[in-house]
Amino acid sequence: MARFIFITGGVVSSLGKGLMAASLAALLQARGYRVRIRKFDPYLNVDPGTMSPYQHGEVYVTDDGAETDLDLGHYERFTGVPSRQSDNVTSGRIYQQIIARERKGDYLGATVQVIPHVTDAIKAFARTDTEDLDFVLCEIGGTVGDIESLPFIEAIRQLRNDLGRGQSCFVHVTLVPYIAAAGELKTKPTQHSVRDLTALGIQPDVLVCRCERELPQSERAKIALFCNVRPEAVIPALDARSIYGVPLQYHAEGLDEEVLLAFGIEPGAKPDLARWSRIIERLGNPEGDVTIGVVGKYVGLPDAYKSLHEALVHGGIANQVKVNIRWLDAELFEGSEGDVVSNLEPLHGILVPGGFGERGSEGKIASVKFARERGVPYFGICLGMQMACIEGARNTAGIAAASTTEFGPTDEPVVGLITEWMTAEGLQQREAGGDLGGTMRLGAYPATLAGNSRAASIYGATHIFERHRHRYEVNTHYRDALERGGLYFSGTSPDGTLPEIVERPDHPWFVGVQFHPELKSKPFDPHPLFASFIEAAVRQSRLV
Ligand code: GLN
Repeated sequence: MARFIFITGGVVSSLGKGLMAASLAALLQARGYRVRIRKFDPYLNVDPGTMSPYQHGEVYVTDDGAETDLDLGHYERFTGVPSRQSDNVTSGRIYQQIIARERKGDYLGATVQVIPHVTDAIKAFARTDTEDLDFVLCEIGGTVGDIESLPFIEAIRQLRNDLGRGQSCFVHVTLVPYIAAAGELKTKPTQHSVRDLTALGIQPDVLVCRCERELPQSERAKIALFCNVRPEAVIPALDARSIYGVPLQYHAEGLDEEVLLAFGIEPGAKPDLARWSRIIERLGNPEGDVTIGVVGKYVGLPDAYKSLHEALVHGGIANQVKVNIRWLDAELFEGSEGDVVSNLEPLHGILVPGGFGERGSEGKIASVKFARERGVPYFGICLGMQMACIEGARNTAGIAAASTTEFGPTDEPVVGLITEWMTAEGLQQREAGGDLGGTMRLGAYPATLAGNSRAASIYGATHIFERHRHRYEVNTHYRDALERGGLYFSGTSPDGTLPEIVERPDHPWFVGVQFHPELKSKPFDPHPLFASFIEAAVRQSRLV
């Protein structure tokens, strides 16, 4: 039976609980255990799919088509275990299920209540699909003390008993702030946070203390004493230079050993962390650097493009170069040609990422034109591929009015609403004006690549499987016109109806993809498209 590790957070949010969960899972995996990480989000949205990236950061999409919290991206990047629908749940989804059952009369006249109905649903969710695992790590979103997270805390309290002795462990992540005026690290917020948790019936086994400075032994002992844990189970967590250094750092502080001991497992041999040391070695010794411009809409919040950021770093690891990222607001390029040139000229590669809505689109199209005309490596992802097709239509195929129906009615819908497509479950159909939540073409779909294409040579394959999240697609009625303009359709859905990849054979590196390759890139297994794009940027950097 799988053992459960419950991870809560205290004092403040943004302590890096997700990274800590991912790192702990990676450490257990390096000891040979089979792991899976789950995230419980206390908000009432059914999933984060309809939330603005400014509210919640990137929406991470799984192979099986779930729109999930960005922490699932960390989990997958650190463990290589593909996340599933069953790895993320929100209060909204739990309540939606319960209310649907209540309306059907499934509760047979009972009063439906938070305890036991909501807590039972949470517990059932935590335990599904765990047969083949050694450890399930469950991260509870939010901060202990929040009203919203109470049912989740109550559910994990109950689970400790349900699972039986030695089958669960509680890890609580807190903050130990440094007060400059006093010149001291302060343990009181951690003490209070643990007190809140114990008042809810949970005694943490391990405390992970985020701190800006070394945590002296005396403070470690003090936290241990007041919070009722062993001093060795107070794990200091200082900021790391790279997130990929976090597993090594936590191991050095004894986190994985303490967690195993909490289960009564003797840690035994050291974990094999060679994979992580290699990544840190490559990141720490770059042989050059390249600068990539990401021309997007949500550039004010790095979390909005989390996986993209990481995939670019992975492309750098593959080529042993440092990747500098310039986040450029596409709207800036809508004023004058001069702004486009001055901002884009210093770059070694231009990337237009996924996005929604019209704002900034003319700036994105101007960036595509610049990259195409100047021979600068161009990578268009999802909306970035659609913009590349509109740019090609307007400027190389003579279709001046080319646009997408996403931005409103147009006479030249080079990009239009996908009205139907096939899935394993059968035909999916959509119409304009339908629900926004959960109705896009979501999840992994196969694509077939032309054998002679750049895409096929980059992948080293002609059949690929990539994750999607879009409502519009390039309109194949324009395929001939676009190909005459030099934009080659090198990848499509296996039935040939949905364009998946376009490229310009006469350009040093110009690729647009309808899917999100960044979601599958890993530090120890960089995505081939990102590795190839950064390689092209390295070549470009030698030219300018
Ligand atoms: N807005 C576009 C669509 O829905 C692109 C989506 C995306 O980039 N993820 O098709």
